[in-house]
Amino acid sequence: MTAERTYLDYNATAPLRQEARAAMVGALDVVGNPSSVHAEGRAARALIEDAREKVAALVGALPSEIVFTSGATEASNWVLRRSWRKVAFSDVEHASVRAPCLAADGGLIRLAARTDGSIDLAGIEALPVAGDAASASGGLLAVQMANNETGVIQPVGEIAKVARARGFKVFTDAVQAAGRIPLDVAALGVDYLSLSAHKIGGPKGVGALYVRDRGGDGASLPPMMIGGGQERRRRGGTENVAAIAGFGAAAEAARRDLAGVARLAEMRDRMERKMLRLTPGAVVVGATSPRLCNTTSIALDGTVADRLVILFDLDGLAISAGSACSSGKVGASHVLAAMGLAPRLASGAIRISIGHETSDADIDACVAAWARHAVRRDDAKSNSKSSAQTAASAPRPAARASAGDR
Ligand code: PLP
Repeated sequence: MTAERTYLDYNATAPLRQEARAAMVGALDVVGNPSSVHAEGRAARALIEDAREKVAALVGALPSEIVFTSGATEASNWVLRRSWRKVAFSDVEHASVRAPCLAADGGLIRLAARTDGSIDLAGIEALPVAGDAASASGGLLAVQMANNETGVIQPVGEIAKVARARGFKVFTDAVQAAGRIPLDVAALGVDYLSLSAHKIGGPKGVGALYVRDRGGDGASLPPMMIGGGQERRRRGGTENVAAIAGFGAAAEAARRDLAGVARLAEMRDRMERKMLRLTPGAVVVGATSPRLCNTTSIALDGTVADRLVILFDLDGLAISAGSACSSGKVGASHVLAAMGLAPRLASGAIRISIGHETSDADIDACVAAWARHAVRRDDAKSNSKSSAQTAASAPRPAARASAGDR
């Protein structure tokens, strides 16, 4: 980041990658409409198809299985707002999945989370038969790859196997997982998967839906929008060529950077160790589960996350209070509540999320800000006595919520 600011809010949105910026600037000067047959149109079309290949490669899909959308919210709404007989969804889904699930007409099945943030597989085993696996509208199960607040990764492949055998199509929100863990739609066995460009260093306002087109049991959806025949008649409207080109470049860079995620995990782990040493009473939420390499949700009883966010901001650091919604309002987090975090503890949860531009100096700045603003006198005293406490050995949180919609 810049010398003045330390940006540690990648799960809200990641800084634009240089590759994405260059692709977008180049695309802005391509005059053609991608649906036109002349050379100018073909040049614009080529940019879109090149980006489609790159986005498909990030998740192991065929290019023809990728439909560009305005973002992941549109992608998830597209899948979830069709008429499903049954809709099963986890209690830790992002608002863009949770809200359309709650609004669905069909029978709702809630899948509970455990205190470590993982979905209770007993709920999956107990799924009813939603219909014949080949039917297009029997049941839909929505389970995220990784959580935006805690980084906890779900065993989507395992879950999909059981759900599909019961006649459910499977949708996974892979927004936070993309570029942080390898993704392969065939190995996962999912029918639909959503992506968002701005979480991987692409521009805001563009995303994609993977719609499975292999296996012969039809995951096709009614068109998102009708009008022109764009996106193979699945989403009418002239494509946002520059944004799509930026998304493609970001997807290519994110895929390349997968080889370097261990560096992020090391930085994140070092940061957590230091923070826990400073405040032995703090809890790293979801620490005992498989987690994304870049995310820390840390809760400290007696602190107020909103206040910490402001203090960090005044010191030049951007972090989140758990996760606030896009309007800037910070509400109780349904995710932390679903994990059984005591309200007092959850209200002190902040989210720190790092990424491709994060440096060791950024981590040091974060630890220093934590030392200035989170350490209380009693912590300082006990620090001199006690050694580092890991989250795994920390007492189980009593209960409470927050960290939300981005
Ligand atoms: N899913 C998750 C897990 C997210 O974190 C977000 C963004 O905050 C979204 C979906 C929505 O993505 P978009 O901003 O592209 O609509």
